[in-house]
Amino acid sequence: MNFNDLNPEILEKLEAYDEHEHVRRFQLSDDIIGFIAVHNTNLGPALGGCRMTTYADEGEAMHDVLRLSRGMTYKNAMAGLPLGGGKSVIIGNPFEQKTEAIMEAMGEAVESFGGAYVTAEDSGTGEEDMVAISRQTSHVTGLPPEMLEGNKYGELGGNPSPLTALGCYHGIRAAIKHRYNNQRDLSDMTVAIQGVGAVGLALGKLLAQDGAKIIAADINKDNLALAQKEISNIEIVKADEIFSVKADIFAPCAMGGALNDDTIDMLKVDIVAGAANNQLANEYHDKMLVKKDILYVPDYVINSGGVICVGYEYFRNSQFNPQDFDLERGSMVAHVEGIGKTVTDILTAAQERSLPTGETADQLAEEKFLSGKKLSDDNSNPEDSSNFGSNGGTQMVQ
Ligand code: NAD
Repeated sequence: MNFNDLNPEILEKLEAYDEHEHVRRFQLSDDIIGFIAVHNTNLGPALGGCRMTTYADEGEAMHDVLRLSRGMTYKNAMAGLPLGGGKSVIIGNPFEQKTEAIMEAMGEAVESFGGAYVTAEDSGTGEEDMVAISRQTSHVTGLPPEMLEGNKYGELGGNPSPLTALGCYHGIRAAIKHRYNNQRDLSDMTVAIQGVGAVGLALGKLLAQDGAKIIAADINKDNLALAQKEISNIEIVKADEIFSVKADIFAPCAMGGALNDDTIDMLKVDIVAGAANNQLANEYHDKMLVKKDILYVPDYVINSGGVICVGYEYFRNSQFNPQDFDLERGSMVAHVEGIGKTVTDILTAAQERSLPTGETADQLAEEKFLSGKKLSDDNSNPEDSSNFGSNGGTQMVQ
């Protein structure tokens, strides 16, 4: 497959560029374009999902892939995984334009990185798409358990959402301990959950098991009905009311940008901690939350249960296991539960550094990944990734 490596002179003009190691543009079919960005491989192969969505133009898709791949470097570092950060995007409507052939072409695109990029599900892609990708490359994770069973690691595969919820639950408990100095627990608390989809519902159930009252909002009536059925102590409010309800914790579990100029003003909570990616509409919203005396648990730290889950599956599948993790489900679950300790460490460091929690998490992540060296400088990694660009790529034409 032909691809173009975008050269740094072009990339440097893009706001979201952050010295990414490689960014490639692929023609996946006559009318479908995709991008893969590898932000940083100092800690290991760059793991990050494949998103398919409509973008206004290629510029918007490039912006997204640069931003998301950088985010994965920070997330994987703070999750304690020997993985770097990368991401792929496909420009198109997943409900109307996705085909097996396009996903197989994405598999070839992933393979062109020779193991430096590993893909998984993201919004607009699912398990069946990872199966199509796996026909062209082994650098894919998040495969269906039944596909992995023959290799005796089926118990590591499957839907990561329950693990994301479990990590959030432990992160929330750690935040409560920190905020209230061990004086309160979930049994006397109310949690407002925005979005009771795959993660929000599972999280609500875990919190309710500990006695918390749940206030939930969703734009999907079926999901709300399911939440009412599965959680007894639940109150439902309208989607735009969830920001202003009186609660102890606000858990954004819907889309990005939930915390912005308008919504932060409305919040009547002590803690914000939830699964959604990119909760802060802008970086300065971190500081706005501090001003309102709201403790913010950085999103990419508390929602890393899913990537730990697919990471373990990848380690088992690839036999790349530099930290000698015990690659059994129980150990993976324990790793996810460890998100609680990571949250405590960040909240404590933020206090010591007198910095907002988001900025502190970024600093701690950078302390972890900036010291390493990138995969393409190191042939001892799972595959010699110094072949970046050796698969017939053409240099950037734009
Ligand atoms: P999902 O699509 O299953 O659930 C999202 C829910 O939010 C849906 O029920 C949807 O109707 C609802 N929603 C959308 N807009 C809303 C609005 N304005 N107000 C109220 N509800 C709204 O997605 P998910 O897998 O549960 O993921 C939730 C969030 O967590 C996303 O931001 C996702 O990127 C992030 N996340 C998920 C995982 C995972 O393992 N699934 C891992 C990391 C991060």
